[in-house]
Amino acid sequence: MNNKTDVLSLFPAELEEFAVSLGEKKFRGKQIFEGLYHGATSFEDISNLPKTLIAKLTECAEIRSVATERKLVSKIDGTVKFLFGLQDGNAVESVLMRYKHGNTICISTQVGCRMGCAFCASTKAGLQRSLLPSEMLLQVMQAQKEVGEPVSNIVLMGMGEPLDNYDNVLRFLKLVNLEKGLHIGMRHISLSTCGLVDRMDDLAKENLQITLSVSLHAATDEKRKEIMPVARRYSIAELMAACDRYTDRTGRRISYEYALIAGVNDTPEDAHEVGRLLKGKLAHLNLIPVNPIKEKTFRKSEKEAIAEFVRIVETHYKISTTVRRKLGGDIDASCGQLRAERDGL
Ligand code: SAH
Repeated sequence: MNNKTDVLSLFPAELEEFAVSLGEKKFRGKQIFEGLYHGATSFEDISNLPKTLIAKLTECAEIRSVATERKLVSKIDGTVKFLFGLQDGNAVESVLMRYKHGNTICISTQVGCRMGCAFCASTKAGLQRSLLPSEMLLQVMQAQKEVGEPVSNIVLMGMGEPLDNYDNVLRFLKLVNLEKGLHIGMRHISLSTCGLVDRMDDLAKENLQITLSVSLHAATDEKRKEIMPVARRYSIAELMAACDRYTDRTGRRISYEYALIAGVNDTPEDAHEVGRLLKGKLAHLNLIPVNPIKEKTFRKSEKEAIAEFVRIVETHYKISTTVRRKLGGDIDASCGQLRAERDGL
């Protein structure tokens, strides 16, 4: 990383301060902000800036960019998977999904991940680094540019643990929401966490209207510890208490993710455990037949086991449940796999 000011990570008021620090009038900050969201990739592109300011900016600031290294389009459903190269040689993945209600992009928040979940491709080589707010914004902007259509929904469910990059993710959420920026409403954004309890409490205090998704994947501590190292840090009781505080504070329903893995967490008894845990809560259960990754032995649950799981949680415990539809099946659209291939992980 260099030490040039990353202008795309700044709020309009900060850009104004920055302009003033360069001996310029405040309104230049606003012009920079507007230029960035009109697609400027260099300061010269911002045509209303004087040459002298462009020279100063080029010296001490930068407009970051990502390069589309790969773009795979699914013939089945139009899902587009991107591998975006970052300026330091790292790469992250983003996936654009087409739904009736608009385009949703799944973005990464870190290069790699240090959470170590046993079934996940993104964590195989640990954490390289966290992404800057600008690098999260750029995934959205570049995808929009590539497909020539706007993105209306964002899910932070790509590579990385968003709450392990808390400050930058929070800044990103606020930036992407700005009316003069990408203007994507908080209710159109979901953030998924493996359950970093302290950070969930911090996030609750922000009282954003985003959807919080919590990766549960097992309903007993014993089983959860086998597949998610974070379970050694926080018990399920502590996690659920944090979820309750989050709902109390924000009034938002929590979405629980549960990857169904054959023979590991998909028995009727598992379904009853999940049901007992979530019963009566403002909760939605999102079941994801696990996506097998290279060299791991996990297999997705049989159709019958999935149907029985759904039947138990819905009929016995009245929990609203969906089974995630697989998109982009022909392009390996789940996260972490393109980067793993690129970097030989
Ligand atoms: N770190 C965040 C975001 C991870 S990706 C989190 O843990 O929530 C979003 C979801 O995909 C998580 O629920 C994650 O556990 C799940 N996931 C990861 N690898 C998967 C796989 N191979 N099959 C199915 N779901 C997977």
